[in-house]
Amino acid sequence: MPNPKRKHTRSRRDSRRAKNWTLDLPSFAPCPNPACGKMRPPHRVCPHCGFYGDRVVVAPKTAKQKGEEGGGAAPETGGETAA
Ligand SMILES: [Zn+2]
Repeated sequence: MPNPKRKHTRSRRDSRRAKNWTLDLPSFAPCPNPACGKMRPPHRVCPHCGFYGDRVVVAPKTAKQKGEEGGGAAPETGGETAA
């Protein structure tokens, strides 16, 4: 039956426990839309402008529910809206 060759020191044990309980922040990447540029999770549609990759995939929430709120010109730059 395999056993550890050496006892881990208190220092080694405590440093491991000290690191493991900390949580790291979720990662963020800037939006590819030059008009938006806000931070969003990587590989997700931007929640601010609906951009993914190089075009608008989902219509942003604010335009549907509240109409134009301030500068609503950003989503229309992607094109391909006519179907
Ligand atoms: Zn965006």
